[in-house]
Amino acid sequence: MTMQNPRPAIRTTCPYCGVGCGILATPDGAGGLAVAGDPDHPANLGRLCVKGSALGETVGLKGRLLAPQIDGRDAGWDEALDLVARRFSDCIASHGPDSVAFYVSGQLLTEDYYVANKLMKGFIGSANIDTNSRLCMASSVAGHRRAFGSDTVPGLYEDLEQADCVVLVGSNLAWCHPVLYQRLAAARESRGTKVVVVDPRRTATCDIADLHLPLAPGSDAVLFNLLLAEIDRHGLVTERPDGLAEALATARATLPQATGLPHSALQQFLDLWCGSGRVVTVYSQGINQSDSGTDKVNAILNCHLATGRIGRPGTGPFSVTGQPNAMGGREVGGLSNMLACHLEIENPVHRDAVRDFWQAPRMAAKPGLKAVDMFRAVEDGRIKALWIICTNPAVSMPEADRVARAIAGCDFVVVSDMMARTDTTRLAHVLLPATGWGEKDGTVTNSERRISRQRRSLAAPGQARDDWRIIADVAARMGWADAFDWDSPGQVFAEHAALSGVAGALGGDFDISDHAGITGPQYDSLQPFLWPQSPRRKGGRFFGDGRFHTASGRARMVSVTPRLPQPAPGAWPFLLNTGRVRDHWHTMTRTGLSPRLSRHLAEPFLELHPADAARLGLRHADLAQVASPHGSAILRVLVTDRVAPGHPFAPIHWTNETASRARIDALVPGVVDPVSGQPASKSANVAIRPFKAE
Ligand code: SF4
Repeated sequence: MTMQNPRPAIRTTCPYCGVGCGILATPDGAGGLAVAGDPDHPANLGRLCVKGSALGETVGLKGRLLAPQIDGRDAGWDEALDLVARRFSDCIASHGPDSVAFYVSGQLLTEDYYVANKLMKGFIGSANIDTNSRLCMASSVAGHRRAFGSDTVPGLYEDLEQADCVVLVGSNLAWCHPVLYQRLAAARESRGTKVVVVDPRRTATCDIADLHLPLAPGSDAVLFNLLLAEIDRHGLVTERPDGLAEALATARATLPQATGLPHSALQQFLDLWCGSGRVVTVYSQGINQSDSGTDKVNAILNCHLATGRIGRPGTGPFSVTGQPNAMGGREVGGLSNMLACHLEIENPVHRDAVRDFWQAPRMAAKPGLKAVDMFRAVEDGRIKALWIICTNPAVSMPEADRVARAIAGCDFVVVSDMMARTDTTRLAHVLLPATGWGEKDGTVTNSERRISRQRRSLAAPGQARDDWRIIADVAARMGWADAFDWDSPGQVFAEHAALSGVAGALGGDFDISDHAGITGPQYDSLQPFLWPQSPRRKGGRFFGDGRFHTASGRARMVSVTPRLPQPAPGAWPFLLNTGRVRDHWHTMTRTGLSPRLSRHLAEPFLELHPADAARLGLRHADLAQVASPHGSAILRVLVTDRVAPGHPFAPIHWTNETASRARIDALVPGVVDPVSGQPASKSANVAIRPFKAE
């Protein structure tokens, strides 16, 4: 008997969270994959979490969209692309460039993202392209820009391993960034790192916490103002950022009561932070998803800027991104208020530089609509043609029922997706089948600015095509074939890298132009690398040298007056918190395919404090109807003191396709942070009662 040579493992990157773990994927030759952690990838050093290790169970043809469809019938690619190009062109000719919009995703690869942005901002002439990352980290972007003069993440993962104290604020790292949590837990074990968790819920992350602060929901800025005042009292202010005096004055006037924390716990936190030379403050959606998320970010940054605990090993504020390529989206200008390569759309010098580089005929001259406003514009008819790429807004947008109705009422809706049936694909006039993880080539950037390759290991199923190719083909049919003429994602990456050199010449940090001449084989073998690559800051931390991107070159502290949640209106007495579970991802289109992943938490649920449950006459495993002014859901009750009275929690993942009436974002109001436009997804006023079948 002859033994077959084992197929070589292909080095790629996980498509889920922003940790960006390296994966060794080995095709079995029959359409399946064996998956293992890549021991050589710097993000995970061989580790994987349960979602990453189950990736092999989620590939295959089940549920896939295999051919273009027009109004529910199969169509050829030429017919579908011709129709999309014609309808978008007609709309722009009749109603102007702002009558069309793209809604894209932090799960697109950088190359896909780049092409979509180039088409909308440089050729259609509108900035109406926004991303579901708006729901995830826009407040961090806005906070960074206010404090640093640029959206630059200062630190590295290894800082969590070098710190004396790591504070996790609004971040259930154990479930949402599990491998980073494993790295922190290992550091705590070996070095005695102190871990503080600041979260109204007692999450799984508290298992390694030396201190858990279950602060009142929304009071994070109060806590960090108190910390800033304590820093001042202890004489630990070592730096002189702009705005220091005003920020300190506001901090000194902040009273602790709103945190709801006992004095002893609060003082323990203040002593620990002030007494630890190396502190990293990690924050995530609990900070960002708030109607004052940007202020909360700046309240955290203030403490690090005042003490110089930034840009040095083991120090810094650290925003961890939710999605695999939220950071890459920032690099290509995926947000409607940014340009490619971290250039600014409102800066005429930046706009001209990008226009010249692209030879763009119609450069967008002003910011476009942010996600919530974009779907409002769909609803009221200002947006007449909408292209949704790689995301499921009929589930994941706040006021999801209203958003679904708005999409259903739009004149022309195109959806590019891997899956045939999602809550959003059902609303499309044209469906375009896209390749997914394992089937496409490109790059992603993780939370610490590390760019890694996703590599193809499986053939594209049916007629599925790569997103960058689909968008470029539409652009060519709209009359811009020369500007969208690439043969491979590597060529798109090379153009993106060349444009980053323009940004670098204008003083920007994002400069990877040493990859501008990258060849196909070099792209194929590209190893994970950190930016910046400039000689001054090559592959390292930012701001340790005290130089920032503001006009003065100094950092800016922001005086933050905390805005607290208003008392719940009588009819909606509970403040619902929302978030992820350990083993599912977003709207479950991939993780829902793995029975193993569904075993952890098999159905949608509501965490309810025992006192609330008793008052409502609900017991463990009963069904509850949860309603807000915007929608309702039916959820299984999980009675637990992990949540505080009045503050239940429900996960975001279930959809109309996977459960009946369990879309949590249907309950969430479309209230946004005024600076970042990020929705306040952690706080929905709701009513709860036992569910009785009609
Ligand atoms: Fe994937 Fe995140 Fe898990 Fe790593 S930690 S394997 S990137 S889901």
